[in-house]
Amino acid sequence: MRKLLSVLILLVIVSCSVDQDIETIEEQLLQTNPEKALSILEELGFNTFNATMDEEFITIEGDIMMNIAFILESYEKEKGVSQAKQSLSRKHTFYGGRVSSEYNNRVKFSMAPNMRAEWLPALQIAISRYNKVNECRVQMSYTTGRAHSHISFRDLGSNTLGRAEFPKKTVHSNLKTYRKPGEYIYIHPTLNSNASLEDKVHLLMHEMGHNMGFEHVFDNAAHRANYSFDGTQIAGTILYEKNSVMNADGYDSRGIFTPNDKIALKTIYPGPFVSDFNQTITGPTLAATKESVTYRTSVTNPGNTYRWEVKYVGAHPWTRLHSNSASVTFRISTRATPNGLNNMNVRCTIVKPNGDEGRKVFSTLVEGRPTDGTHINL
Ligand SMILES: [Zn+2]
Repeated sequence: MRKLLSVLILLVIVSCSVDQDIETIEEQLLQTNPEKALSILEELGFNTFNATMDEEFITIEGDIMMNIAFILESYEKEKGVSQAKQSLSRKHTFYGGRVSSEYNNRVKFSMAPNMRAEWLPALQIAISRYNKVNECRVQMSYTTGRAHSHISFRDLGSNTLGRAEFPKKTVHSNLKTYRKPGEYIYIHPTLNSNASLEDKVHLLMHEMGHNMGFEHVFDNAAHRANYSFDGTQIAGTILYEKNSVMNADGYDSRGIFTPNDKIALKTIYPGPFVSDFNQTITGPTLAATKESVTYRTSVTNPGNTYRWEVKYVGAHPWTRLHSNSASVTFRISTRATPNGLNNMNVRCTIVKPNGDEGRKVFSTLVEGRPTDGTHINL
């Protein structure tokens, strides 16, 4: 299931395991002082009733996650309750949900220098695959400067290939609330040492998906049962799909979005259709109700996929026509064309074997069904 986080979710890992790495200072702090962090929060006036704790975070008041190391560091650094409270208030960070429009069309990724030689080509492919999803607003880029998400090597334990942070909600000084992409992606250096370019592309696309708020899909129910974190299923997508980029383990997608993955991206981050190539459509520009009409596109290739649709005057949605070729023939509906001259649009969407997509709309006037038994003189 491509799931958008609607609730707080902890860090998610490709192969779900507990991080045993206790080398960093942050982890030593949280290993030894979670209770202290909780008491600091109480001192600061937070309601810690029903607070829950895990290795890295204290969750309070239902949906506010506080990084334990951050609480302790702030407290030590500021040497006082009021300063620490200010510091925490400025941070005001919790997790989940979709990345705000202010950020989702300009997401920047950076990469640690020691992994660029091996991983940067994979990142550039991963970015281009996100950017190429049509009718999706998400646009990403690579930068050596300031980024929204930083990618680096980290020992994540014996069976975790990668890990990413979910989107982060922040309150700016103007009091507006934004949700930014997750700020980091960790890649296990040795577990991925034999990964092919496709494997690397897959892993990065998967973790970047988490940065954008997407949760896992699974092979089947038994596989799903291994994972405790759950999101909300996105309409039009399926829960069990082995080849999905967001499948919870393995390299199965080979870095290729499935149709369901694309539906998920388009649904959560809708954007305009951008044609990769031009086409012209020919056919009648004036027709009458019940008349049979034929339209053709200039782009013809047996390997292409064609989708023809018609939209009549008024609020009717686009209706699929029966054709998967470079031309379509159909009879104009009597119901959809009231008396008088009406506008009818025919559109053709083409997908080429290489994934390029093109769409063109053709407008036709339709002489509607007269109510008085006479025809309009044109
Ligand atoms: Zn994952």
